[in-house]
Order: sequence, then C-alpha cells, then structure tokens
Amino acid sequence: MRRRQLIEGAVTSAVLAALPGKLALGALDPAAKALSAVTLAGDDIQLGRASVEALAGSLQGTLLTPASPAYDKARQLWSASFDHYPSLIAQCASAEDVRTAVQFAREHKLLTSVKCGGHSFSGKSAADRGMMIDLGAMRAALVDTAGEVVRVGGGARLGTVDRATLEHKLVTVLGTDSDTGAGGLTLGGGLGRLNRVWGMTIDNLVAAELVTADGRILELSARENPDLFWAIRGGGGNFGVVTRFDYRVHPFNPMIYGGDMSWPWEQRLEIMRAIADMTRDGPDALFISPYGVVDAKGEPHFSLEALYVGDHAEGEKALAELARIGKPSRVDLRVLSYMDRQATPPGTRRRSHYMKNAYVKKLTDEVAAAALEAIPLVPGFITFFHPMGGAVSRVGPQDTAFPHRAAGWAIGISIAFDDNSLFPRYRAAVREHHARVEPYSIGFYNNLMNTGNEGKLSENYAVNLRRLAQIKRRYDPDNFFRLNANILPAGEAA
Ligand code: FAD
Repeated sequence: MRRRQLIEGAVTSAVLAALPGKLALGALDPAAKALSAVTLAGDDIQLGRASVEALAGSLQGTLLTPASPAYDKARQLWSASFDHYPSLIAQCASAEDVRTAVQFAREHKLLTSVKCGGHSFSGKSAADRGMMIDLGAMRAALVDTAGEVVRVGGGARLGTVDRATLEHKLVTVLGTDSDTGAGGLTLGGGLGRLNRVWGMTIDNLVAAELVTADGRILELSARENPDLFWAIRGGGGNFGVVTRFDYRVHPFNPMIYGGDMSWPWEQRLEIMRAIADMTRDGPDALFISPYGVVDAKGEPHFSLEALYVGDHAEGEKALAELARIGKPSRVDLRVLSYMDRQATPPGTRRRSHYMKNAYVKKLTDEVAAAALEAIPLVPGFITFFHPMGGAVSRVGPQDTAFPHRAAGWAIGISIAFDDNSLFPRYRAAVREHHARVEPYSIGFYNNLMNTGNEGKLSENYAVNLRRLAQIKRRYDPDNFFRLNANILPAGEAA
C-alpha cells in the first residue's frame, strides 16, 4: 500500500489535544428521573435517567443536557432567529460516536438534527426538544500531499480547511465565509470565490465517510457506494451523517489580485450592464460579485467584490477595465491575502436573519432592474449577485445530485437585524423583493433558504428528485434524517 504523508493543519493538533480521551458524562439535573423529549412523530417522550447516562458513558465525546453548563452555547446557531432547545446534545468525537448517537435516537424514535457549523438559514440543525448530533469536535483538516486531497472532519469550519491547504500553497473550493460549516455547505453544493475555475465544492469532493440511519459506517466514492456518493453531492443531509469529507486540492497562490469598488447608487444599472458584458465571455478566472446594500441610516449603496484567480498582472489588466466604467467612488484593487478575504466579517454572528434567493441564467437588464432598481430601504437589507457558470456549468445536471448547472448567477436577497420581534415585517420585505426576481428564476439554492414551503424545497431537486427519493428509500426509509431540505422516501406521499 502506498505510504501516505499526512501533514496536520495548524488547528488539528490543538483540536485533537482538546478531545476528552475518556468518557465524559454530561450533567443531568440531579432531581430529574427522566428527561422529556419529542419523537419524530411529534409525540412527547420521557427518556429514563439510566438510558441517558448509559449513552453518555458510551460516547468518547460529551453528552449535554439542558442542565449542563456548556449546553446554552452548544445549542445556539449562527442565526438568532431560532431559539431551539434540544433535550440532548451528543458532541461526537468519532464516527463510532455518531453511530452510537444515531442508534440511541433510532431506538427512542427521537427527532434528530445534525449540526456542523450551525449556519443553517432554516434553523434545522437544532432539533427543538429532540437530539442534536453536534460534530463540532470533529473539525480536523489534514492535507494528504501524496493523494492531493484535504481530509476534513464532518464538523469542520471552512477557515480550518483553508488554513490547512493554503499553508501548502494549495486550495479547494469552499464558501466565502470562514465560519461556515463544511458539512451543510458541501451537502447542498458549495458556492465560493473559486467555483468558476474549479466547480462547486461537490465537484471537488472525491470521497466521504457516512453513518447511515441503520448505523452502518460506509466509505463513499465513485467506486464505493456510488449511489450514495452521487446523492450527497447536492442532496443535503438526507442520507446520513457525513463524518469525513475528502476534497481535491489545487496548486494556488495564497496572495490574489482583487478588491472592492463602489459607485454612486444612481449608476447601479449602468454598471450592472457593463458587468454582464464583461463576464459573458470573460475568463473563468474572473470573479465579480456586485451587491446593493442599505446602511444603518437607510441609505442604499452599490459596490462589488472582484478577484482574479490567476496571474496578478493579468488580473490587474482585467480588473482595470472595471475602473473605467462610470464614475467609481471607490477603487481598492491590489494583491491581497485570500485567507483574509475568506474571513468572516466582524459582528455577523447571533443576529436575526431572513434570506431567499434565485438562480438566473443570464444577467439581463430586466434581471438587474428587478433586483436593484428599487430595494426596500431597510437597514441591513442586501441584494447580492454570486457568479456561477464556468466550471460549474461544465458538469451535467444529473452528474451529481445538484441539478442547477445552467445557472449563470445566484441572486441572494437577505436582511440582518437585531430585534427578532420584527421578523414578520422583515420577512415580508424580503419576500416582496424576491417576488420581483422570481419570474426570471430557474430554481434556487437550498442552502440559502429560510424555512417556508417544504414541497418547493424538494421540487427544487428537479430532474434528480426521483433518483434521490429512491436512494432515500433504500437508506433511510423512515425519513429519520428529516431536518434538512427534505426528500421523502420514494412511494411516500407528501
Ligand atoms: P449547520 O446549521 O450546521 O447544518 C445545516 C444542515 O446541514 C443540517 O441541518 C444538516 O441537515 C446538514 N449537515 C451539516 N453537516 C452535516 C454532516 N456532516 N452530515 C450530515 N448532514 C449535515 N453557502 C455557500 O455555498 N457559499 C457561501 O459562500 C455561503 N456563505 C454563507 C455565509 C453565511 C454567513 C451563512 C449563514 C451561510 C452561508 N452559506 C453559503 C450557506 C451555507 O451553505 C448553509 O447555511 C449551510 O447549511 C451551512 O452549513 P453548516 O454546516 O454551517 O450548517
């Protein structure tokens, strides 16, 4: 067998050292004889103290209950819009731990969720009164220089993966925000700054390890369990808990040419047309992501982020063209650190959010006008355009479970706010604005959707829904993994 050379990512050894290494028992209220919880069918259930303690004793990681000091932090998600209280949080340290937690939950028919980075826009990774399988301790990222992959724990955040690869002048395709979990992002598809060059995150996934609803630990790749390997590349968390992702890595200069530009709000549609012209036949290396955003005073601003994934001089030449359009109020283009670009902006966690999105084929004048002509002047409102096409479109709609390969752009419409009592009002503003763009939409990104019409979520698997439902039936006939962009097992009525 070929000898593998494993190089630990900077974070890895610290993470491994932090693992308990012995049985760790979560606290149960000393007075409590049982813990109340909810089943998959929505019925109340009492979990006996002895069985909860037995579960805690059989985990290498930690079991938290509402009485545990660490519980409150562990239950929280990125979005403050969801205030869910799982009855049990199994902080798993290994695939075997995940299997133990799944088997316990199956035995008690517990409503169960899976949490990686906790960035779910729909709040589904925290099962209210159910069991949360928290993968946060499984967050190592190891670069395998021989195999040219980065091997990542199922609970890793993007920043850990980027740090591990960039150290070796390598990269894989991830999202744009370091704090996001690799788990949810990958299973839904994975859009980022590099996807026009190397495809979506799923196009770079070469293997994975999955714990199924019946407690098997399976190796997935094009050769092993290919049906499941196909399904997890876009089919969400429907098929089991992924405890390891192996991504292909590419040679990459961690310093990249690009930056930010702004124009007066009045020029936005003119600039959008120029961006459409420039990107229509432009090189895959060009990443241009324009957005309209409303500041704290209710004033709208039009800006863009631009990067050139390649030679700096070529990038400087290509992006200089942008600065000649209209009369920019800010041009900040230079060689910058890719890792810094990927960093999460400060102050974005634990705010309330509402988000919708749409894929469009082309950036026409009509699309730009629908999205940007009039935006609600509510502080924190943003409409952004994420470029797709390039390598994303060179994969067939049925080659992976992600069908939306014809999309040229993803348009995100979202609002962030602090007073959660205003949620209905802000949700209405986002929905109203989204309705303007929807007539041009050819689908949407499940990963950027709040809760809403579940039927629409599954229809969005489009040409792949039938095959996904058959695979779901084979591996999860009881729909145990249901807190996700859910696919009903074939033969089950909605
Ligand atoms: P979690 O809330 O932990 O999980 C979400 C769901 O994924 C879970 O309910 C579960 O069904 C499933 N899941 C997660 N991990 C596993 C696992 N290991 N095994 C099985 N199921 C699992 N998306 C992009 O494509 N590109 C971006 O640039 C991007 N930027 C974002 C920035 C922010 C600030 C936010 C909030 C979201 C962003 N997203 C982006 C969307 C993101 O892909 C989804 O929110 C995704 O669900 C986040 O994954 P997570 O692991 O953090 O979420």
